[in-house]
Amino acid sequence: MKAVVFEGKSRMRVADENKPEAMGSKDAVLRVTTSAICGSDLHMYEGRTALPAGQMVGHEIMGVIERVGDAVTSIRPGDRVVLPFNIACGYCYNCHRGYTNMCLTMNEEGPHAAYGYAGMGPYRGGQAEYVLVPNADFNCLKVPGQPFDQWEDDFILLADVFPTGYFGAELAHVGPGKSVAIFGAGPVGLMAALSSRIKGASEVYVVDFIPERLEKVKELGATPINARDGDPVEQIVTLRANIPGLQGRLRPGEKDKLKGVDCVIDAVGYQARDDKDYAHEKSTQVLDNMVRIVNPAGHIGIVGVYIAPDPGAPTAQAKQGVFALPMAELFDKAVSVGMGQCPVKRYNEYLRDLIITGHARPGRIVSHHIRIDQAPEAYKKFDQRTDGYTKVLIQFPG
Ligand code: NAD
Ligand code: ZN
Ligand code: ZN
Repeated sequence: MKAVVFEGKSRMRVADENKPEAMGSKDAVLRVTTSAICGSDLHMYEGRTALPAGQMVGHEIMGVIERVGDAVTSIRPGDRVVLPFNIACGYCYNCHRGYTNMCLTMNEEGPHAAYGYAGMGPYRGGQAEYVLVPNADFNCLKVPGQPFDQWEDDFILLADVFPTGYFGAELAHVGPGKSVAIFGAGPVGLMAALSSRIKGASEVYVVDFIPERLEKVKELGATPINARDGDPVEQIVTLRANIPGLQGRLRPGEKDKLKGVDCVIDAVGYQARDDKDYAHEKSTQVLDNMVRIVNPAGHIGIVGVYIAPDPGAPTAQAKQGVFALPMAELFDKAVSVGMGQCPVKRYNEYLRDLIITGHARPGRIVSHHIRIDQAPEAYKKFDQRTDGYTKVLIQFPG
């Protein structure tokens, strides 16, 4: 079968790999219909992880079940399923409490397991024609319909970015009437914007500097903030100050203290690349901006990935994965900060049902549908964020 494998820094290759055969009694084999490329894949692509050459990648996967082991009871051949990117056992201390992102039994070497990812266990990637699904009763989300129907683009986003964006909104305590600032209009930031709208936020600002992505922000009913037009924090403060009635509702003394927003989400994470037009101090600038824009007693949710070690990082601390947050200011403002990998299973049944009932169309952020042979080139363009590459789906029409 054809599969995308990591070859080295900035190099992916399409290789011939063995179809998964050996199968435990609790496992299943999935015939993949769609597998997406994720911003998280770029940490490996850009050479910031210890992923060995030749490893298959891809953790956003959906398709049709081909075979199941003897002990699998709830999933049958022919079922259409999406795979939450976290691989979990379902019975450990953390899984029981809903933290499938921190399953204690599926990866001997680290705190979490996933398909095709450095440090996340021995599981093969799903940017491939077939993938083995461990512990299939727990690790499949059943979805209705037929391959490549009107929902394919929506459902594939349930594997990761839609629940991850929603998780960012949960960590930031987004709720009805609240104001939200999101940094990053990649797929995760866009899904955080959609989720904030679903949760009833009154204002949703999304900061980026890529025109096509800012256009998608608008399509989702949120307010794009182009960081190239000036300090994004100042832009948000100015926009808020000019919303009719918003100032009038404040008491004397509140005005200067409530210029920012209630909820802030980091959907950027560690970015190694330097953008020549937008002189940002790499990711630390996002952290600084989040602290500047959050109101007292507000909440910050960090779903962008901060990864270490990165030998190419600009500072000795960043090399170790140490990024500064101004603790005194956060403490003074009584701001809470949450972060981590998304526990996909906690949300994706509800989010699936929003799609089925027509209340959410996350798939509108998909920019490209490609065949697997085009994957190496698509990685390059997605990494460089050129030609409108925003969310790329690798498809296997059979
Ligand atoms: P992405 O990496 O393309 O998105 C990042 C966006 O941030 C880009 O559009 C980029 O232009 C923008 N950006 C860069 N520097 C910026 C700055 N200083 N200010 C504002 N915007 C800036 O793709 P993505 O798939 O959206 O991934 C975003 C992050 O989320 C990555 O770090 C990824 O690893 C992470 N992620 C985390 C989880 C999780 O479970 N926590 C899951 C999926 C992805
Ligand atoms: Zn992903
Ligand atoms: Zn577990």
